[in-house]
Amino acid sequence: MYPLWHLLLSAAISIFAILKLNVGPLEVSLIVLGGFLIDADHYLIYIINKRRFGIRAAYRYFKGSPRAHLCVFHTAEFMLLTLFFMLYLPVLGWFLAGLASHLLLDIIEDVVMRFYKMHEGRIYFLIPYLLWGKVLFKPSGRLLKSGRRRADEH
Ligand SMILES: [Zn+2]
Repeated sequence: MYPLWHLLLSAAISIFAILKLNVGPLEVSLIVLGGFLIDADHYLIYIINKRRFGIRAAYRYFKGSPRAHLCVFHTAEFMLLTLFFMLYLPVLGWFLAGLASHLLLDIIEDVVMRFYKMHEGRIYFLIPYLLWGKVLFKPSGRLLKSGRRRADEH
């Protein structure tokens, strides 16, 4: 999903929370952190894989990639971990609200992209990926139609 959409949704949630729930700057920061800045994991993956730091290049790398990527902040396990810490620090519920909105947009995008066979989507479950990743997430040949996979692997 384009970062702008995540930022707009985070802003909308923040405005709603300010107007209706009278929240302060901490809560708004947590909404934006969960709703927008969790995409930082994409950038970390780019740095690890490519050993480069260009943000624009990182953006193009993921935008043009049909492969499934494991982005740790986008996993159910990260969400559960946040939920666990929320028991001790309830203000994290705002982070979780932002995170849930972010994942909702990403999942909608993945469903559409998979339907049109443009990319394989994200990996949303860390533990199954670590245990059976090579079997479950073996790249499918369906995406070769456009030839984008070959370009991506270089
Ligand atoms: Zn995302």
